[in-house]
Amino acid sequence: MRGADAIVVGAGVAGLVCARTLSRNGLEVVVFEAADGVGGRVRTDEVDGFRLDRGFQVLPTAYPEARSALRYEQLELRQFERGAIVRFQGRFHRIVDPRRSPLRGVRSFTSGVVRPRDLLAVRRLLSLEGRETTTLDALCEAGVSGSLRDGFFTPFLRGITLEAELATSSRFLRFVLDAFASGPAALPSRGMGAIAEQLAEGLDVRTGTAVSRVGDGAVILEDGETLAADAVVVAAAGLLDDRHIRWNGVTCLYFDAPAPPIAGAWLVLDGEGSGPVNNLATLTEVSPSYGPRGRALVSASVLGACEPDLEAVLHQLEGWFGPVVRSWRHLRSYAIPKALPAYPLGWSFDDEPRVERGLYACGDHRTHPSLNGALASGRRAAEAVLSDLR
Ligand SMILES: Cc1cc2nc3c(=O)[nH]c(=O)nc-3n(C[C@H](O)[C@H](O)[C@H](O)COP(=O)(O)OP(=O)(O)OC[C@H]3O[C@@H](n4cnc5c(N)ncnc54)[C@H](O)[C@@H]3O)c2cc1C
Repeated sequence: MRGADAIVVGAGVAGLVCARTLSRNGLEVVVFEAADGVGGRVRTDEVDGFRLDRGFQVLPTAYPEARSALRYEQLELRQFERGAIVRFQGRFHRIVDPRRSPLRGVRSFTSGVVRPRDLLAVRRLLSLEGRETTTLDALCEAGVSGSLRDGFFTPFLRGITLEAELATSSRFLRFVLDAFASGPAALPSRGMGAIAEQLAEGLDVRTGTAVSRVGDGAVILEDGETLAADAVVVAAAGLLDDRHIRWNGVTCLYFDAPAPPIAGAWLVLDGEGSGPVNNLATLTEVSPSYGPRGRALVSASVLGACEPDLEAVLHQLEGWFGPVVRSWRHLRSYAIPKALPAYPLGWSFDDEPRVERGLYACGDHRTHPSLNGALASGRRAAEAVLSDLR
C-alpha cells in the first residue's frame, strides 16, 4: 500500500526539519513516531505548574541552522547570562568574558580562577585550528591555566558533551566554543519542547506508531502493515546506525524551591569536581514561565544515566547554598542513557544521507551531537530526496 511520496521515521528535530522541507517543496509526507509526542530528545513535561525539559538543555542562539530553521520571535527566547558562576575552592565566582563586559570581566581576574595568561590562551582556543586532539589536550596546548581548566572549562564542557574525561574531539570543541562565543544561550518561554512543536506545525505526524523495519522503498510498522513511498528517511539512530554509536548519558533532577539559590539567569558549575552535580541552573530565573508565580525551578545535572542518589545531591547543594536546600521538593528526575552520541578523537561518520536507492538517513549522530547538527542533517537528507526525485 502506498503511504505517501515520502515517509520520515522519527519526529525528533532532524526528522521534523526534513519532513517540513519536503512538504514545503510539494511532497506528500507522513512522519511515523514511536513515542506519544513529537520532539525526540527535545520535549517538555508539565508537572505541578512547572515546565520540565526532558534533561537540562539550552539553545545557543548563534547556531546557524537554528537561525534559519526556527522563528525565534515566536519561541519568546529568554537568555542566560554570558558566562557562569563557578563553585571553586569553597566560594562562588562569576566568570565573564571580558570582551562582553569589561568591568565584570576584570573581576573574573580577582577570583583566582582566571589567570592573566588565560586571556591569550582563550583567544588561542577560539581560533583553534590545526591537528585534531582531545578536548583536554586542546585546553593544555592553548595554555589555559590549571585553575581555569578545572574551575570553568572542565565542568562547562562536561555539561555539554556529557563525558567526564574531556576525550571529545577538538573539532566538536571548536564548534561549541564558536557557538557560545557568538551569541547567548536561551530557553523558549514555553520550554525546549516548543522548538519541536514549531517544526511540527502543519505536518502529518502519526505518534505512537513505531516502524520495525525499512527497505525496498517501504516501511514496515510494528503491527505488520507495509507502506511504500518514493523516499523513506530514517531520522532515528536505532534502525540503521545504532551499532556504530557510543552514547553519553545524563541524569537531570528538578526541584521546587521557595526562592532561587542564586539570583539571575546563571549557569552554576561545580569547579571543585566534587560532584555528583556538575551543573545547575534556576530555570525560573531565565524564564519565569518555567514555574508557578513565587516558586523557583532548580535543575541539577549529574553525568551518566543513573538512579540519582538524592541524599548525595542534597548534601552537595547544602554545602553550596545552606540548610534551605532541605526545604526543596524533588519534583522529578530524568535519567537519559542515550542523551548524546559520543564524538571522540578520530570520529567520523560519513553524513551522506543516501543509504541505498530510495532510502535516506539523518540525525545528530551523523554530524555533531547538538540541535544544530540534527537540524543540519535533517535538511541535508531532505535536499538529497528532492534532488533524486526531481
Ligand atoms: C539531556 C540532553 C541535553 C542536551 N543538551 C543540548 C544542548 O544544550 N544543546 C544542544 O544543541 N543539544 C543538546 N542536546 C542534544 C539534542 O537534543 C539532540 O542533538 C537532538 O535533539 C537530536 O535530534 P534527532 O532528531 O537527531 O534525534 P532524536 O531526538 O533522538 O529523534 C529520534 C526520534 O525517532 C523516534 N524513533 C526512534 N525509533 C523509532 C522507530 N523505530 N519508529 C518510529 N520512531 C522512532 C524517537 O522516538 C525520536 O522521537 C541534548 C540532549 C539531551 C538528551
